[in-house]
Amino acid sequence: MKPTQVKDDILNLSPDRLIEWLSRYDIRPYRSRQIFKWLYMRQADDFDRMTDLGKSVRELLAEHFYIGRFEKVAEELSADGTRKFLFRMNDGRRIESVLIPEKSHYTLCISTQAGCAQGCRFCRTAHLGFERNLTQSEILQQILQMKIEPDDTKRLTNIVLMGMGEPLANYENVLNALNILTNNEYGLKFAGRRITLSTSGIVPRIYDLGADTAVNLAVSLNAADDRTRNMLMPINRKYNIESLMEVCRNYNLRPHRRITIEYIMIKGINDSVLDAKKLSKLLRPIRAKINLIPFNSHDKSQFERPSQKTIETFQNILIDNHYTVMIRESKGRDISAACGQLQGKTQDRDSIGRA
Ligand code: SF4
Repeated sequence: MKPTQVKDDILNLSPDRLIEWLSRYDIRPYRSRQIFKWLYMRQADDFDRMTDLGKSVRELLAEHFYIGRFEKVAEELSADGTRKFLFRMNDGRRIESVLIPEKSHYTLCISTQAGCAQGCRFCRTAHLGFERNLTQSEILQQILQMKIEPDDTKRLTNIVLMGMGEPLANYENVLNALNILTNNEYGLKFAGRRITLSTSGIVPRIYDLGADTAVNLAVSLNAADDRTRNMLMPINRKYNIESLMEVCRNYNLRPHRRITIEYIMIKGINDSVLDAKKLSKLLRPIRAKINLIPFNSHDKSQFERPSQKTIETFQNILIDNHYTVMIRESKGRDISAACGQLQGKTQDRDSIGRA
């Protein structure tokens, strides 16, 4: 009896690996461009749809590969238009992605791990613990699954890697996914400046990211001294603020770009006038803009959001020191889609939940 062929997910292949695989069957390299176009630009979920390939090539592909698709098990719509999607992957684990409407476009926030090992005290995902890294395919499927209605005037133009997980702890898969996302010939043609990767501060990988990609960097800083940051973010015990500032100073920043510093404001923890002054001094040598994110209360945390007056006083100190500072009210708070609230546990539902 012929052994059953174990198939691989073709969405885990890079263009080079597909070209190399095709060459084993004497199939010319240009075929890989056609295949990738079907997979990403036309989002084909069946090799039979690839009508500009000969039947024998389609059959060969189907014999060795499948096209990864995970199941969307729930979708929730926030009062502000934010939509949160819960996906079940092939092994049953769940991840979430969030589609955020902006004035003229959509931004999609994607996950890079199921759960997270970093243990940030303010984050709901941290309570899941680490389950596993997402594959290149699973990272990309979140984008491929995002169907924008044809009559919608907004398009999906921006991607942020700020969902579940620490992207730089899954570096290889994230890098490969970014290569497809930004590839004009083989991939999804997103400009690097339209993609932002947010990290809790895995310093050596930040250097790598600057060397390997042209995406924007966001650093989840949240404190201006090691004592406070150690308490909020265990990663700081390994890579302290000085090492984080050093990599930010030396980061391979493209012209006219700045590093986004994210600062979740927590009542009584990091929101004082002194904290604002320390932050201002700390960031002076860095080309940075600052996003202040008032803490989103959730049932897994005792932390609270500061008063509006405290937030504005903090912002004004930074503005007086010539920083660009935005107060970012997280969208989708009513459906737990806001920053730090993803946890992959939305109730399974066949129908769409309305907030
Ligand atoms: S904030 Fe990010 S890095 Fe920290 S635990 Fe949550 S998902 Fe992980």
